Amino acid sequence: MSFDGLGLSQSLVNAVLEKGYETPTPIQAQAIPAIIERRDVMAAAQTGTGKTAGFTLPLIERLSSGPKAKSNHVRALILAPTRELALQVSENVEEYAKHSDVSSFVVYGGVKINPQMQRLRKGVDILVATPGRLIDLHNQNAVKFDSVEVLVLDEADRMLDMGFIHDIKRLIAKMPAKRQNLMFSATFSDDIRALAKGLINDPVEISV
Ligand code: AMP
Repeated sequence: MSFDGLGLSQSLVNAVLEKGYETPTPIQAQAIPAIIERRDVMAAAQTGTGKTAGFTLPLIERLSSGPKAKSNHVRALILAPTRELALQVSENVEEYAKHSDVSSFVVYGGVKINPQMQRLRKGVDILVATPGRLIDLHNQNAVKFDSVEVLVLDEADRMLDMGFIHDIKRLIAKMPAKRQNLMFSATFSDDIRALAKGLINDPVEISV
């Protein structure tokens, strides 16, 4: 098994090979083709399984075509529970997207909001965000969701444990109904399934 044949363009396969990955992990082998086919995905995967590359690679592939994000607009949103995870995901996106024209940025709370507002003015293809700061930015009209094509919830179970459910629902309510949804969670509790029900459409379910 190699990264060829998963539907990724050669430049992304090269980016992965440059990192020294030779074989896709099980979650990558299942998630990458499904995401490229624009299916919704619900995946049970712990940290350490390679889930981050499993959604960032096909996301970059998808956003490599189509019009770039307009001012204050975003085309894909990745929600993560903590600043640490948001930064980690964003570093992955930057690394894989470095040979592409896909732009990315990360926002989280606990730091000044003004520089974040300024960067968002240029538009961002992939925005990684913690939910609270994203709500603040949206309330200030610094970020608009009309162009969101893909929503990713990373570590959804942790976001629920941390009490972000209402924030997440408020954010989703502002997004276009027609979009691709990807949900990653270590476990699928009843709460997670309830959230998924109102969010995910006929998903490919993956468990690793
Ligand atoms: P994650 O589960 O996304 O936090 O990734 C866990 C670790 O696995 C990270 O350090 C990645 O750099 C690494 N990794 C991801 N995909 C692969 C792969 N296909 N082969 C080897 N290592 C990988």
